[in-house]
Amino acid sequence: MSAHTTFKIGGPADFIVAPANFAELAACLRLFFDGGVPVSLIGGGSNLLVSDKGIRGAVISLAAFTAISRLPCDAAAPNEGSEAGRVLVRAEAGASMVDLTEWCASESLSGVERFAGLPGTVGGAVFMNARCYERSVSDVFRFAKVLSVSANGFQIVEKKFDSAEWGYKVSPFQARTGIDPLILGPGSTVVLAATFALSSGNEASIRAEMTGYARDREEKGHFRFPSGGSMFKNDRSFGKPSGKLIDEAGLRGFRIGDAQVAPWHGNFVINAGSARAADVRALVAAVKKRVFEATGFSMECEVIFAGDWSTDAAGE
Ligand SMILES: Cc1cc2nc3c(=O)[nH]c(=O)nc-3n(C[C@H](O)[C@H](O)[C@H](O)COP(=O)(O)OP(=O)(O)OC[C@H]3O[C@@H](n4cnc5c(N)ncnc54)[C@H](O)[C@@H]3O)c2cc1C
Repeated sequence: MSAHTTFKIGGPADFIVAPANFAELAACLRLFFDGGVPVSLIGGGSNLLVSDKGIRGAVISLAAFTAISRLPCDAAAPNEGSEAGRVLVRAEAGASMVDLTEWCASESLSGVERFAGLPGTVGGAVFMNARCYERSVSDVFRFAKVLSVSANGFQIVEKKFDSAEWGYKVSPFQARTGIDPLILGPGSTVVLAATFALSSGNEASIRAEMTGYARDREEKGHFRFPSGGSMFKNDRSFGKPSGKLIDEAGLRGFRIGDAQVAPWHGNFVINAGSARAADVRALVAAVKKRVFEATGFSMECEVIFAGDWSTDAAGE
C-alpha cells in the first residue's frame, strides 16, 4: 500500500481492484460480499496511515471514475429557487481535487479555488469534509449519488445536503461499522459522484487565487516529504491549533525511526526516509501523551489508521 498512500507507508494488500465502470464495481462488490471478503475503499490515500502488515481482503479504488461535467439546467431542479445564479458541477468520486479545481477554472466557475492543490480525490474530500483556508467541502456540496450498503447488499440512492449532518471534518458518509475504518459493511456509503454549486466568475482571477493557495502550501512545506497532511484535528475548544500545542510542547523535529514531527510544522508528521507505520504510530502516541501532560487536551487524529495492526507492539 506504500504505492497508494501519500505517506508512502503500508504493507501489501491481498489485492487491489480498480473497476472500469459501475457494472464492474457492482460485480466486484457482489462477489466480495457474497464470499465474505472484507472490502476496503480508498481514494487518493492522502489521509491514510496503513499498517506495516497491510490490508487483508480487497482494496477498491474508484480511480477510473473521473468524469467532470456541468449539469444541464433541468437536472438542477432539486436546487431550484435557493440556487438562483448557481451552476451545478458533477464530479465522479475518483477525479482528483486538483483536476476538479482546474476544470472549474477553465470553465470560469468560482467556488472551489481554496481546494487548489489539495491532495486526494473528490470522494475522499466529500467523505472527510475536507477544509482548506476556511472553506469546507460542505460549503459547496449539494447532493451525491451514493452506493448504500446494507445487510442485503447495496442500492444506489441520491443523498441531498442537510446542514445538520455536516460539521468540522464531519460528513454523513462516515458511518462505518467495522473495526477498520476503510472496510465497507452495512451502513456504509460509497460516494460515486458529487454535485457542487458554483458561480460564474473570471478565469484569470480564479486562477490567480488558486495559484496563491497552491504556493502557500508549497511554502508551508506540505510536499517536502511524504506525509498524510495534518496529523491531528484542530479542535476549536483547545483555543489553539494542534500544531501550536505541539510546538509549545517542544516537539518539532521529534523523531522515532524515520517518522518525524516536521521541523517546520508541528502538525505534520513526515516519513523522513523509510519510516514504518509502527514508527508513525509510536510517534503519534508519544506526541499525544506529551501534549496531554502539558495542556490537558487529548488531540484527536485526523489521519485514518487502517489495515492490520494486530501484531504491532506500539499502541496509540
Ligand atoms: C500534503 C497534504 C496536505 C493536506 N492538506 C489538507 C487540507 O488542507 N485540508 C484537508 O481537509 N485535508 C488535507 N489533507 C488530507 C487529505 O488530502 C484529505 O483528507 C483528502 O480529502 C483525502 O482524500 P483521499 O481521496 O486521499 O482519501 P483517502 O485518504 O484515500 O481516504 C480517506 C477516507 O475517505 C474514504 N473514501 C475515499 N473515497 C471515498 C468514496 N468515494 N466514498 C466514500 N468514502 C471514500 C476512505 O474509505 C477513507 O475512510 C492533506 C494531505 C496531504 C498529504
